[in-house]
Amino acid sequence: MMLKKEKSLIITLSIIILAALLYTIFTLNKLSNASTSSNINAQKGALELSNWNFHKDGYTSLGGQWEFYWQQLLTPEDFATSSPLPSYIEMPMEWNKYNKDYSSNGYATYTLTIKLNDKYKNTLLGISVPSMLSAYKLWVNGDLFASNGIVGTSASSECPSTIPLTSYFMNKSNKIHLVLQVSNYNFRNGGTQHKICLGTQSQMANKREASIALEILYFGVLLIMGLYQLWLYAFRTDDTPKLYFGALCITLSLIALTVGNKYFFTMYNNLSYSLDIKLKYLTFYVGVYFMINYIHILFKNNYSKWIINGCKLFCFFFITTTIFIPPLLSSKFLIIFQIYTLLMIIYAAFIILKSYHSKKQENLIISISCLVPIAIIAMSILRYLGLNNINDYSLSGFLLLILLNAFMLAMNESKAYRKIENLSKEKEQYLLAEKLTKVTLLLNSTLNLQEVLDKLLENLKELVPYDSASFFMEENNRFNVMAGNGFENVEEIYKISINKEDDNLFKEICKTKTTLLVSDVKEDPRFSLFIDNFTIESWMGIPILFKNEIVGILTLDSTQKNIYTKYHCDIALYFACHAGMAIENAKLHGKTKQLASIDPLTSLYNRRSFFELANINFDKAKSFAQTISGIMMDIDDFKKINDNLGHYTGDLVLKHLSKICSETLSNSHILGRFGGEEFIVLLPATSFESAEIIGETLRSAVENNPMITRASGSIPIALSIGVASITPTIQDLDYLFIEADKALYQAKSLGKNQVVSINLDTLIVT
Ligand code: GH3
Ligand code: MG
Ligand code: MG
Repeated sequence: MMLKKEKSLIITLSIIILAALLYTIFTLNKLSNASTSSNINAQKGALELSNWNFHKDGYTSLGGQWEFYWQQLLTPEDFATSSPLPSYIEMPMEWNKYNKDYSSNGYATYTLTIKLNDKYKNTLLGISVPSMLSAYKLWVNGDLFASNGIVGTSASSECPSTIPLTSYFMNKSNKIHLVLQVSNYNFRNGGTQHKICLGTQSQMANKREASIALEILYFGVLLIMGLYQLWLYAFRTDDTPKLYFGALCITLSLIALTVGNKYFFTMYNNLSYSLDIKLKYLTFYVGVYFMINYIHILFKNNYSKWIINGCKLFCFFFITTTIFIPPLLSSKFLIIFQIYTLLMIIYAAFIILKSYHSKKQENLIISISCLVPIAIIAMSILRYLGLNNINDYSLSGFLLLILLNAFMLAMNESKAYRKIENLSKEKEQYLLAEKLTKVTLLLNSTLNLQEVLDKLLENLKELVPYDSASFFMEENNRFNVMAGNGFENVEEIYKISINKEDDNLFKEICKTKTTLLVSDVKEDPRFSLFIDNFTIESWMGIPILFKNEIVGILTLDSTQKNIYTKYHCDIALYFACHAGMAIENAKLHGKTKQLASIDPLTSLYNRRSFFELANINFDKAKSFAQTISGIMMDIDDFKKINDNLGHYTGDLVLKHLSKICSETLSNSHILGRFGGEEFIVLLPATSFESAEIIGETLRSAVENNPMITRASGSIPIALSIGVASITPTIQDLDYLFIEADKALYQAKSLGKNQVVSINLDTLIVT
C-alpha cells in the first residue's frame, strides 16, 4: 500500500501540475483571442488607430463599419481609378444576417482604411484572416496579401476553402488600405463571423502559434483519455458508460482538429472543402450521439424510451445524410440539428436535475460531469447562432471535465480494487479455516496411529505444498520414520532413524520447538546425508508437540527453491498442534488396546485377541481357498513342576516357553496363550506338511532348551502337540482347533512329548 507521505506528495504535485496546465491554457487562450479592442470600431470604412500602441495595447481586431460593395468584385486598381459608391456593413458578421437583401449566395468587396500611428511606418505587421465563407482574396495597400480558394461569381466558378491564414507585410506608411473580395456559393451564410486582426509581426505569429498549440494540446489530451476509457471498457465490457465517454472524448479530439486553425489540414494542401465541412459536421453529430448515449446510460431509468430512441434516430439520420449530400445543403441542415440539440440538452438537463433532486442519482459528480458538457455544447451552439458572444471555451471546458473524470476514475477504481483485495483475503482466510477444521476432524476420526500419520501427511499437502514428506516419531531421543509420502522408495525411508544429538537440524527444532525453514538446501551446511541433496531445494521441519513436548518431527521437502514462507510456517504449526494431540490419542489407544489383548504373563495374545486375528486369517484362507493350519500345545506334567518347584517357577517356565516358541515361529505365525499351560498357534497359508514340520520344530526347540534357574538348575520342559491342516470351504475356525485338540489328546495318550498331525483335507493322521 502506498505510504501516506507519498500519496500526499503525489496529490500536491498533481495540483501544481494541473494549476500550471490551466495557467498555460488560460495564457494560450488569451494570446489567441483578440484583446480589448471592442471599443475601437471602424466608422464608415475608416479605422482610427493613431493612438493605438500595439506593444502596450496588444493586437486589435478590425471590427466595425467596413465599406461594402454587393455583387461587385473590385480590385485596388478599381479604387485607384474610380470611386465606386459604397454601402456599409458591420464586421464581423455574415452579410445575409446583416441585411436580408443580401442573399447568402453571392459575392462582394469589402474595404477598410486604417490610420496608424507614425511610429509604425516601416514596421513588419501581421494580419490574421479567419475562415471566410467560402473563398476570399485580400489586398493590403494594393498588393495581394492573402487568398483562400478561388473567388467566383457563380457556384461553378467558385472554389471554396476555409483555412484561416496569418500573413505579414512591411508597412510603409501610416495608412493601410484593405480590399477584400469574398464570394459564397457553398455555405448557408456568406462573409465571416470571425474577426480579422492586425498586430505586429510577433504578436500575430504568437497568436497563431498559441491557438495551434492549444488545439494540439486538446487533441492529444482528449485522444489519450478517450483511448484509455475505451481500453478500460474493452477489458470490462459491462461498463458501458466508459465506452460512450471514451468515444465522446475521441470525437472531441477530432473536433479540436476540425475547428480553428485546422493545422493538420494545412499539411494536406489539396484537402477538399467538402471533406473539411463534412468532417466538421460529422464530428459534431457523432459527438452529440455519444453524448446522448452517455447521459442515457447514466440516467437510464429517468428517460423516456421513446424520446431517447427518437433522438438517436435523428442523429443517425443526420450522420448518414451528411455523408451523401453536398456541403451547401448540409450547412443549411445544420441549423435544424443545432435547434434539436438545444431542445435535447434542455430535456437532458431537466432529467439530470430531476433525478439528482429525487436522490435517485446520488452522485453529484456524475450529475456535474453530465451537466457541464451539455452547458458547454449549448453555449457554443448559441454562440454559433449569434445569440451570445462569449468566447468559445468549449474545448477548455471539456478538458477540465475530462481531468475531473480521470481523477474520479482513479479514485473509484482504487476503491474497488481495495474492496476486491479485502474480499479475496477474507475468502482465503475462510477457506484456510475450513480446510484446517476438515483436517483436524479427519485426524481425530481414527485412533489407528499409522492411519493418523498417513492422513496427516496427505492432508497437509493441501495446505503446504511439498514433493515428499516424512514423519519421525520420537522414541528415547531417537527419531524413527513412521510415515512417508511422495517418496519413490518408501521402504528405504522407513529404515531411517536419526539420533537427536547427531543431526543439527533436529537438534535445533528440539531446542526451539518451532518450525525450521531452509530456503536453499544446497547452500545449508546443516544438511546431513539422510536427505537426497540432489533433488531437494527447500526444506521445512515442523515439531509435533504435545503438552509442549516434542512427540515427533514432520519434514517437508520441495524441489523448488524458496518456496516456504512464514505463512506456511504458521499453518504448519497450527496443524502440528492438532496432529500432536491426534498422535498422542492414537498412541494411548494403542497402548490400551494392547493391554486388553495381550496376556500379561507371557506377552502373547490372549485367547480373545488370538481368535479375533485367527478368524480374520481363516476367512482370508477361505476366500482364497488356501490351506491353513493350527497347532494346540500342552506342557507335559506341568502340575509336577508347580508342585515340586512352586507356582512362581511354574510362571517362569510359562514365560520361558513362550519366548522359545515366539523365536521359533516367524512373524506371519500367530501365537497365543489358550489358557493355563496350553498354547495355540495359527499358521496362515501353511500346508499340512509344513505345519507338521513346524510342530516338530517347536517340540524339539522346547525340549532342547530347558529352563536354567539358579535355585533348581536345569528344568526340562516337554510339549505334546496336536497339528491340524485344512483348506476351508464351509468349515469354521473352531473345527480346525477342535481337531488339533483331538490330535493333542492323542499325542498325550501316545506317551507325551510328541506331535500328532491330522490333515483335515484327507483325514490322514500322522
Ligand atoms: P498332563 O501332562 O496330562 O498335561 O499333566 P499336567 O500336570 O500338565 O496337567 P493338569 O491339567 O493336570 O495340570 C495343569 C496345571 O497347570 C494345573 C494348574 O495348577 C497349572 N497351572 C495352570 N495355569 C497356571 C499358571 O498360570 N501358573 C502356574 N504356575 N501354574 C498353572
Ligand atoms: Mg493342560
Ligand atoms: Mg499339561
